[in-house]
Amino acid sequence: MIVVTCSNCGARNRVAEGATERRQPVCGKCRAALNLKAGAAAAGKPLTVTDETFAQEVLAARGLPVLLDCWAEWCGPCRMIAPVLDELAAEANGRYLITKLNVDENPQTSMRFDIRSIPTMLIFKNGALVDRIVGAQSKQAIAAKLR
Ligand SMILES: [Zn+2]
Repeated sequence: MIVVTCSNCGARNRVAEGATERRQPVCGKCRAALNLKAGAAAAGKPLTVTDETFAQEVLAARGLPVLLDCWAEWCGPCRMIAPVLDELAAEANGRYLITKLNVDENPQTSMRFDIRSIPTMLIFKNGALVDRIVGAQSKQAIAAKLR
């Protein structure tokens, strides 16, 4: 279960994970459609982004920095950094958004931003690329870039 705050009335709703595959969940109080992606961010997990959803989830985000972690299954340093990004997502509290992109499965976005080595973390704000972190870094170093 995840807790999703209704963007219409502010009520907190408990929703089963994966509920969107069956039907659009609505707010128990005002019946407005609930945004489960905001729910995933509120639950403190990195949001998985693909070539198809990149523009909508990352470029269209307004007002807060969005970190995009470009990673692959076979990349050892990516696996080392994954728990750090999980922690940063858990501590985000609405100040920034942590997202992840599998470069093997999403070549368009990887080519567009010229990802030559991984992990590479791209930081976007209001649809623009504002910073780039190449290689595994400490949690403090990444957090500092998000401030
Ligand atoms: Zn509501």
